[in-house]
Amino acid sequence: MNQAAYEALLLRLKEYDRHYHLLDEPLISDVDYDRLLHELVEVEKEHPDWIRPDSPTQRVGMTPESGFAKVTHPVAMLSLGNVFNEAEIRDFVHRVQTASAKPVRFVCELKIDGLAIALRYEQGRLVQGATRGDGQTGEEITTNLRTIRAIPLVLQEPLTIEVRGEAYMPRRSFVMVNEERQKAGEALFANPRNAAAGSLRQLDPALVAKRKLAFFAYAMPNPQGLALGQEEALLRMQALGFVVNPYHQVCQTVDEILAYIEQAGKLRETLPYDIDGVVIKVDDFALSEELGYTAKSPRFAVAYKFAAEQATSRLLSIEWGVGRTGVVTPTALIEPVQLAGTTVSRATLHNEDMIREKDVRLGDLVIVQKAGDIIPEIVGPVLDERTGEETVIVFPVDCPACSEALLREEGEAAWRCVNPACPAKAVESLIHFASRQAMNIDGLGEALLENLYQQGLVKTIPDLYHVEREALLTLDRMGEKSVSNLLQAIAASKEQPLDRVIFGLGIRHVGAKAAKTLAVAFGTMEALQEASFDALLAQDEIGPKMAQSIVQFFADPTKLALIEELRACGLTMRQPLIAKPMGDHPFVGKTFVITGTLATLSREQATEKVTSLGAKVMSSVSKKTDFVLAGEEAGSKLKKAQDLLRDDPSLPLRILSEEEFWAMLSS
Ligand code: NAD
Repeated sequence: MNQAAYEALLLRLKEYDRHYHLLDEPLISDVDYDRLLHELVEVEKEHPDWIRPDSPTQRVGMTPESGFAKVTHPVAMLSLGNVFNEAEIRDFVHRVQTASAKPVRFVCELKIDGLAIALRYEQGRLVQGATRGDGQTGEEITTNLRTIRAIPLVLQEPLTIEVRGEAYMPRRSFVMVNEERQKAGEALFANPRNAAAGSLRQLDPALVAKRKLAFFAYAMPNPQGLALGQEEALLRMQALGFVVNPYHQVCQTVDEILAYIEQAGKLRETLPYDIDGVVIKVDDFALSEELGYTAKSPRFAVAYKFAAEQATSRLLSIEWGVGRTGVVTPTALIEPVQLAGTTVSRATLHNEDMIREKDVRLGDLVIVQKAGDIIPEIVGPVLDERTGEETVIVFPVDCPACSEALLREEGEAAWRCVNPACPAKAVESLIHFASRQAMNIDGLGEALLENLYQQGLVKTIPDLYHVEREALLTLDRMGEKSVSNLLQAIAASKEQPLDRVIFGLGIRHVGAKAAKTLAVAFGTMEALQEASFDALLAQDEIGPKMAQSIVQFFADPTKLALIEELRACGLTMRQPLIAKPMGDHPFVGKTFVITGTLATLSREQATEKVTSLGAKVMSSVSKKTDFVLAGEEAGSKLKKAQDLLRDDPSLPLRILSEEEFWAMLSS
């Protein structure tokens, strides 16, 4: 790269910075930005004399321009050096270790994808809150920050202290905010980070309050002896009344750090907020001071960034697939691109409405992402890159598998094939039945089932239990051993508990969790078949739509015949009784109601945690409720609990905050 190209790249990055940091409207994905920044770093390494003081490598964020007062940070708020792989982590650990005489401990934390905030307390009272800005000067947004419930207005002790952390927008709030913006015809936020930053820059605190932001405290820049290291600081902040992310961990070796990163990667999908990596910090403030800072970041901490979750690629064509319920779904075939460590060449476009709303066209440069789900999806076209050569996508009117006319029900986004004999639907039903969450038949994957169907060996679910060894041996790549294993797995599946069979049958609207509820409540398939609409509705978490669908399913003689056939094949279809865990944990045998938004875990995770301890989760509060776990914005259920307690304080009912819940959970 020559100097002119370097200057051009620098200007381009500065423009991206302005849009990202000041306008909260990124022009490109973070991954693309990081790639360009990396190019700049490489050039600057080669030509240090070209480096300009305003290069994005030399400074943090942007000096604020907005209508807020400016705040000078007493201790600079820096960025973090990034590491992307094991070698770079080893390097960091090695560098730190050589500076210390004794073995170094590190604290690993989740890297919350929000924006850094500094809070100043005087005599225990919140007096000022500010954004990071350019690291030296930030924006004073105290009134806005006061609307965030996780930020205590008064500390448990009258300390004069600064606390830093990440303000973020939980995923649920993000979806809600964007839905509202869409209704109002406003531009959508690109991601929860930009939505959080944009919200905190609103001039009207009432509007900020509606955005339901949250906050995790993670640093005391001037600990004044209150803590000697990061772990102690986290505990101290928690004791002062802050919400500290529970997933922090002390690690002493690179292997422990790598294991933590792997865990965090798995956790990522299930968290109710976005994370974009892991922060690794030295757990010793004295050593941290010794290590010091570079112009842009501390030497005692680094951020490990997860592999790319977004990328851009060309939309080549659309493949129309037919699902188990007959829904026709468009899959985008794109030029292969690296995404989150894998090569992606297919991504979902969801449905027709989505394609129209986003105005995706063939030939478009599109943004592809992997987020919240394992299946990559098309976020939308890069409109700036349109050449005029792109063509509008034409939707099929007939089923791509059986050519019957497609139907679209009122109020539904999907077009459906209603032909009961549609081969695509049959194969998808088989795939669903054998899948891991359903009957979990090892070795019976999509390709094999498709093959079995095409060869005419398996057309219906009961056929699976009649398929012969000799027939299987005629198939490609099926030797003695794999055939034996497969037959064994099919035979073993006959003993699968009722909930897996219910889910495997693919009753509309009945997911794995509802199937479990039904199986536990009714015990046998016969009892479920007989269940009335009202009896179904009386079950926790079963709503009218699902109850109606179940009744309809069992009213269909072909479905009853299918169940009869399965019974004749030897399927037991029974739900074993769940043994209650013994022990004296305070949650054993208790009744819970979970309400509001939890900062540190989803409701499903909370439910799983308490049910694994033998507690029951109900949907409404009554005198029989033992615990109400109340997150942020808890509404009528919390109020009902408070009213009950006011009327009768002797009730065993207890209202738990998230922190109290965690404390009791680990008791
Ligand atoms: P960074 O995101 O790499 O890391 C530093 C930040 O991590 C801290 O300031 C803090 O806010 C956050 N953090 C979260 N959890 C933390 C924890 N537990 N402990 C400490 N810190 C924690 O650096 P940055 O300077 O904030 O931002 C750079 C990012 O912005 C890059 O990812 C870049 O891709 C993106 N960016 C994108 C564009 C674009 O146009 N798309 C433009 C500019 C910057």
